[in-house]
Amino acid sequence: MAERVASPLSATARLCDSFPPDTDAAMKLLIATGNVHKLEEIRHLFSVPGIELIGLSDLPRPAPDVPETGLTFEANALLKAVGYAAFADMWALADDSGLVVDALDGEPGIFSARYAGSHGDDAANNRKVLEKLAGVAEAERTGRFVCAVALAHPDGTTRVIEAACEGRIDVEETGEHGFGYDPMFIPDGHQQSFGVLDSAIKSTISHRSKAVRAAAELWAGLLLGRPGH
Ligand code: IMP
Repeated sequence: MAERVASPLSATARLCDSFPPDTDAAMKLLIATGNVHKLEEIRHLFSVPGIELIGLSDLPRPAPDVPETGLTFEANALLKAVGYAAFADMWALADDSGLVVDALDGEPGIFSARYAGSHGDDAANNRKVLEKLAGVAEAERTGRFVCAVALAHPDGTTRVIEAACEGRIDVEETGEHGFGYDPMFIPDGHQQSFGVLDSAIKSTISHRSKAVRAAAELWAGLLLGRPGH
């Protein structure tokens, strides 16, 4: 399975020389997503000892939406992480993810959540992809889930990690597990969709799992590298 994880030292990771001030807020991390599936998945995957993970609903006042106006997964993840870090005045983690289908020139891509029009209409989104791929041979139905995870601190420190899970798009939806495009996505090395496969398999090989685990390592290293930690 091909994997794209931006190394902290690669050109795709935004590096910043300054480190955040040594305050209690540095030991809390805001998981900035309104999607409960993602929040649970990220809470499970992002384990850094001694760190308190909080969600948007734990903030003392409701957080405004951060518009996803970027042209890439990385840009959108960064926009959200930076926006919520500034709002909450603490480290924030945000992700942006979606399905990239080769035969559709990369669609739905960054528009995955609203491909068929209204945001989060999974059934309509899936129907649209399957209709557009009608008649496309199995060998041409390749694609990948992509996830960018961004970390940001109010002082301007940012990091972005991107990872992918390669696979193909089935001709129909199968299974009840997961969410979004899971019932039609068959990951490489398997014969069944994420809708059918055990969720433990998805949490080992998924785009989000790889990106979030890498981000946890990166963030732990950042904190350890700071004086006093
Ligand atoms: P986001 O909330 O802007 O990152 O949009 C993510 C959208 O991409 C979701 O609404 C799904 O349609 C799709 N997506 C991302 N990750 C997954 C996944 O793990 N399984 C199925 N669909 C996903």
